[in-house]
Amino acid sequence: MTTTDLHNPADGSVLMTLDLLDADAVDDAVARARTAQRAWARLAPVERGQALRAFADAVRDHVEELARLEVANSGHPIGQARWEAGHVADVLTYYAAAPERLFGRQIPVAGGIDMTFAEPIGVIGVITPWNFPMTIASWGFAPALAAGNAVLVKPAEWTPLTTIRLGEIAVQAGLPDGLLQVLPGRGSVLGERLVTHPGVGKVVFTGSTATGARVMAAAAPTVTNVTLELGGKSANVVFADADLERAAATAPYGVFENAGQDCCARSRILVQESVYERFMELLEPAVAGVRVGDPADEATEMGPLVSRPHWEKVASYVPDDAPVAFRGSAPSGPGNWFAPTVLTPSSRTDRTVVEEIFGPVVTVLRFSDEADAIALANDTAYGLSGSIWTRDVSRAFRVARAVEAGNLSVNSHSSVRYATPFGGFKQSGIGRELGPDAPLAFTETKNVFVAVEDGPRSDQQSVAVEDAAQEESA
Ligand code: NAD
Repeated sequence: MTTTDLHNPADGSVLMTLDLLDADAVDDAVARARTAQRAWARLAPVERGQALRAFADAVRDHVEELARLEVANSGHPIGQARWEAGHVADVLTYYAAAPERLFGRQIPVAGGIDMTFAEPIGVIGVITPWNFPMTIASWGFAPALAAGNAVLVKPAEWTPLTTIRLGEIAVQAGLPDGLLQVLPGRGSVLGERLVTHPGVGKVVFTGSTATGARVMAAAAPTVTNVTLELGGKSANVVFADADLERAAATAPYGVFENAGQDCCARSRILVQESVYERFMELLEPAVAGVRVGDPADEATEMGPLVSRPHWEKVASYVPDDAPVAFRGSAPSGPGNWFAPTVLTPSSRTDRTVVEEIFGPVVTVLRFSDEADAIALANDTAYGLSGSIWTRDVSRAFRVARAVEAGNLSVNSHSSVRYATPFGGFKQSGIGRELGPDAPLAFTETKNVFVAVEDGPRSDQQSVAVEDAAQEESA
């Protein structure tokens, strides 16, 4: 067993020393999970729904406690952290209805009755990043449990506390022992073992594209199913016919939320040439107005970065000679503070335009016309989200269909709703989370054919062809 120190990002103090589990812990966890899962899958669907509803209610009772823990461990502003804890309860409530709606199909075939069944996969591994610990864990465990699986969650090393607490709340709410386990450990040790363990049937990984590629390779020898939710470098496209005031006022929210540590951050603002100067005039006060400070303060809109190593990574993108157009404010003193920063690089291939910075740093580029805007928006290895600002409804749809990304919003920066699918194109990932179909992603489709007539009439088409041939010769 090793340990790790957890720090408060707002002042750098050590919150606590946490024991990390070794890779061997996965063997025992999988065995317990499998036992729990068999009994869970045999429960009446309505009972599984009731258990998830009880879990949701218990999370709702702990919103304030979970939010305070996230403030201390992750530096999230308190208002946002409350929303996150409430969102976990909502996700659980939404999927509590799913066990009774996991419908199979009855498919017309010759010679018998054909049915499909959505069978649980068994034990699911959910590996989460440090930026939205609770919410992302729930996007994996809620639909997976609803579909009759057990779940092992490995939270990120820097921010495991709210996920560990959710695991405790699940047990207090009456979820069967071993059904949902939280295993704090190192990614390269416990995380990797979770991916390669033969008893784990599927892994949902959320994190960087580089680690996601490693997870996919590690899953290959056991042919383990993976969903990957990876990085992003999303575009916020502002056309000349947009409501420029609103586009500029909301642009900071589109990228600096959670201090830019957001996979959906619109970290590339693309503005049509003819309104570029006006847009920048409007953007400057909007950026200056972002309230950066103590995350425990109700008025705070942006807290510190999660850790010192991450602060150093973000700072490396803004050297002294960086093309800074303007910056917002940030507290000085201890803590991982970083002011919201707007860069105007001269090249479309600058590293700040191409790489995911994952901090409060945004680049602004100009485009000439619609075709140029689409080309620029798509000139990235990623494809997670994006925004389009225009008053022309035809253009809105044309551009939304042309941008290669999984979650687009028009005249808005909204990306995440539990009732709608979420995930990325290209190197932003494989598969989708959330929405009505998420439980199906944690099932195997089983097809069962029941013969009701004698004879090998198993192929509709050959029977039809035989019949046609007989008719012709008659
Ligand atoms: P990361 O890839 O460093 O780590 C993610 C998780 O993987 C952590 O729990 C880590 O311990 C674990 N891990 C590390 N090595 C592993 C291995 N070899 N095998 C198995 N697990 C391993 O990512 P991060 O820095 O925690 O998070 C930031 C990244 O996550 C950003 O790129 C961001 O865009 C992405 N992200 C994506 C989404 C999405 O839904 N698409 C959401 C949030 C964050």
